[in-house]
Amino acid sequence: MAKDYYRILGVSRNATQEEIKSAFRKLALKYHPDRNPGNKEAEAKFKEINEAYEVLSNPEKRKMYDAYGEEGLREGFGSSGFSGGFEAFSDFDDIFGGVFESFFGDIGVRKRKTRGEDLKYELEISLEDAFKGSKLDFEYERLDVCEVCSGKGAKDSNSIKKCTTCGGRGRVQYSQGFFSFTQTCPRCHGEGKIITQPCTNCNGRGVANRKNKISIKIPAGVDNGTILKVRGGGDVHPDGYAGDLYIEIKIKHHHHFERNGDDLIYNAVLDIWDAVLGCEIEVPIIDGGKTKIKIPPATNHGKILRIQDKGMPSANSKKRGDLLVKVSLNIPQQLTDEQKELFIKLRDSFKKAESQEKKNEGGFFKKIFT
Ligand SMILES: [Zn+2]
Ligand SMILES: [Zn+2]
Repeated sequence: MAKDYYRILGVSRNATQEEIKSAFRKLALKYHPDRNPGNKEAEAKFKEINEAYEVLSNPEKRKMYDAYGEEGLREGFGSSGFSGGFEAFSDFDDIFGGVFESFFGDIGVRKRKTRGEDLKYELEISLEDAFKGSKLDFEYERLDVCEVCSGKGAKDSNSIKKCTTCGGRGRVQYSQGFFSFTQTCPRCHGEGKIITQPCTNCNGRGVANRKNKISIKIPAGVDNGTILKVRGGGDVHPDGYAGDLYIEIKIKHHHHFERNGDDLIYNAVLDIWDAVLGCEIEVPIIDGGKTKIKIPPATNHGKILRIQDKGMPSANSKKRGDLLVKVSLNIPQQLTDEQKELFIKLRDSFKKAESQEKKNEGGFFKKIFT
């Protein structure tokens, strides 16, 4: 069946090169296999768009197409220009002379063939490490150049033979109708060579799972869930480029502090008489050591006292968070006879004062702490 390349790209017959390019770009982005994984329909559409663009973007080919019509081109293009299957997509650079990459480069879709996978790992660090910022060793597994064959994929140098189909060039050329085509060699897939006996360590892939150890700089003030990117830390592709490594920071539970943004929370447990009468307590600080803080008289359960600038450093500014001391009360669980007696007395005293208060309409309690 003849194909109308103008209709495929949705442009008129007298469209300018700019219009053709713009239409192609829009459609190619929409139907790109990276965006439609496993979608056969999109894949077919994508190939069709590329085919149309190859002809219409090339003034010479476009002229021929316009002059001889679809009939003239059918013989030349049909499906023979594209080898069929997904393999065709990896030939983009040759087909489009680099145009294609510049299209996708700016939206971050990378070339399919040459880059290893990105990896994601978690790293658990202490709150102290997050406070100070530190350099930590991190060991993980990734695909890396095979140590046994140095990435060649062959058992030894005698196992690498020049591909006879393409004469080692990796590409084959043939003519049909008006045109001559260059295509990736179907036998060696563009490698130009054939491996007769693959390396047993990497099964001929040239890359194998290996431990990798890197040193990671943890920024001071880093928060739980922060993701650090290590460029080139991902899987290494047999063609040489590595993906990136993403490390998600997990901060271990701390025995003293909870974190709330840049603030730290410390739970201080007070005896009820200290909460009533006031006292001074020691509070641990993340810098190390302790600091003293005054608990004012009549401090309620749940009250929060703020010690300024003793929290976490802010990852985004020079400021530091605060240390929040949250008060809770320790209720005695066991009482001696004497203590019980005293509590009863205390209760009775309060009740008496309360009824007095009602009679006097206020004034009595306020005097307690003055
Ligand atoms: Zn190997
Ligand atoms: Zn070949």
